Amino acid sequence: MDKPDRIPCAVPFCNRTAERRETDGPRTEFLCGPHYQLSDKELRRLGRLALTRANHELNALHETEQRVADGSIEDLRPQARRVLRFFRRSNRFFQRIKKQSIERAAGIQ
Ligand SMILES: [Zn+2]
Repeated sequence: MDKPDRIPCAVPFCNRTAERRETDGPRTEFLCGPHYQLSDKELRRLGRLALTRANHELNALHETEQRVADGSIEDLRPQARRVLRFFRRSNRFFQRIKKQSIERAAGIQ
Protein backbone atom coordinates (compact mmCIF):
# COMPACT_ATOMS: atom_id res chain seq x y z
CA MET A 1 0.00 0.00 0.00
CA ASP A 2 2.22 2.76 -1.30
CA LYS A 3 0.90 6.28 -0.93
CA PRO A 4 3.19 8.74 -2.70
CA ASP A 5 1.12 11.69 -1.46
CA ARG A 6 1.63 10.67 2.19
CA ILE A 7 4.73 10.65 4.39
CA PRO A 8 4.95 7.49 6.54
CA CYS A 9 5.89 7.59 10.24
CA ALA A 10 9.63 6.87 10.64
CA VAL A 11 8.98 4.15 13.23
CA PRO A 12 9.00 0.71 11.58
CA PHE A 13 5.61 -1.01 11.38
CA CYS A 14 3.73 2.14 12.34
CA ASN A 15 0.95 2.65 9.83
CA ARG A 16 0.36 6.34 10.49
CA THR A 17 1.11 8.83 7.75
CA ALA A 18 1.11 12.59 7.31
CA GLU A 19 -0.27 14.52 4.39
CA ARG A 20 2.46 15.88 2.13
CA ARG A 21 1.83 19.58 1.74
CA GLU A 22 3.23 22.05 -0.76
CA THR A 23 4.71 24.06 2.13
CA ASP A 24 6.72 21.06 3.37
CA GLY A 25 9.23 21.48 0.57
CA PRO A 26 11.60 18.54 0.49
CA ARG A 27 10.37 17.08 3.78
CA THR A 28 10.45 13.32 3.58
CA GLU A 29 10.42 12.28 7.24
CA PHE A 30 7.72 12.38 9.83
CA LEU A 31 6.98 11.02 13.31
CA CYS A 32 3.35 10.45 14.29
CA GLY A 33 2.08 12.03 17.51
CA PRO A 34 2.28 8.94 19.78
CA HIS A 35 5.78 8.05 18.56
CA TYR A 36 7.02 11.66 18.74
CA GLN A 37 5.84 11.71 22.36
CA LEU A 38 8.17 8.82 23.21
CA SER A 39 11.24 11.08 22.93
CA ASP A 40 12.54 13.28 25.76
CA LYS A 41 10.49 16.39 26.41
CA GLU A 42 13.59 18.59 26.65
CA LEU A 43 14.93 17.29 23.34
CA ARG A 44 11.57 18.05 21.69
CA ARG A 45 11.64 21.56 23.15
CA LEU A 46 15.14 22.18 21.77
CA GLY A 47 14.08 20.75 18.41
CA ARG A 48 11.10 23.09 18.22
CA LEU A 49 13.32 26.05 19.12
CA ALA A 50 15.83 25.10 16.43
CA LEU A 51 13.10 24.82 13.79
CA THR A 52 11.57 28.15 14.83
CA ARG A 53 15.00 29.76 14.58
CA ALA A 54 15.65 28.22 11.16
CA ASN A 55 12.29 29.46 9.85
CA HIS A 56 13.03 32.90 11.28
CA GLU A 57 16.36 32.99 9.44
CA LEU A 58 14.63 31.88 6.23
CA ASN A 59 12.07 34.68 6.53
CA ALA A 60 14.91 37.15 7.09
CA LEU A 61 16.57 35.83 3.92
CA HIS A 62 13.36 36.42 1.94
CA GLU A 63 13.31 40.01 3.19
CA THR A 64 16.94 40.51 2.19
CA GLU A 65 16.17 38.95 -1.18
CA GLN A 66 13.61 41.68 -1.71
CA ARG A 67 16.23 44.33 -0.98
CA VAL A 68 18.61 42.64 -3.43
CA ALA A 69 15.89 43.00 -6.04
CA ASP A 70 15.79 46.68 -5.16
CA GLY A 71 19.55 46.82 -5.77
CA SER A 72 20.48 47.75 -2.20
CA ILE A 73 22.36 44.54 -1.26
CA GLU A 74 24.54 42.51 -3.59
CA ASP A 75 25.38 39.14 -2.11
CA LEU A 76 22.93 36.75 -0.48
CA ARG A 77 25.34 33.87 -0.11
CA PRO A 78 26.53 34.46 3.47
CA GLN A 79 22.96 34.75 4.67
CA ALA A 80 21.85 31.73 2.65
CA ARG A 81 24.65 29.68 4.22
CA ARG A 82 23.44 30.84 7.61
CA VAL A 83 19.91 29.63 6.82
CA LEU A 84 21.29 26.25 5.74
CA ARG A 85 23.29 25.98 8.95
CA PHE A 86 20.18 26.53 11.06
CA PHE A 87 18.11 24.02 9.08
CA ARG A 88 20.89 21.44 9.38
CA ARG A 89 20.95 22.05 13.12
CA SER A 90 17.17 21.64 13.26
CA ASN A 91 17.46 18.41 11.27
CA ARG A 92 20.08 17.05 13.68
CA PHE A 93 17.57 17.52 16.49
CA PHE A 94 14.92 15.71 14.46
CA GLN A 95 17.33 12.83 13.82
CA ARG A 96 18.01 12.50 17.56
CA ILE A 97 14.28 12.61 18.35
CA LYS A 98 13.62 10.01 15.63
CA LYS A 99 16.35 7.71 16.99
CA GLN A 100 14.92 7.88 20.53
CA SER A 101 11.38 7.29 19.30
CA ILE A 102 12.38 4.25 17.23
CA GLU A 103 14.45 2.76 20.09
CA ARG A 104 11.69 3.28 22.63
CA ALA A 105 8.98 2.00 20.33
CA ALA A 106 11.04 -1.18 19.98
CA GLY A 107 11.44 -1.38 23.75
CA ILE A 108 15.20 -0.96 23.62
CA GLN A 109 15.17 1.80 26.23
ZN1 LIG B 1 4.28 6.27 14.42
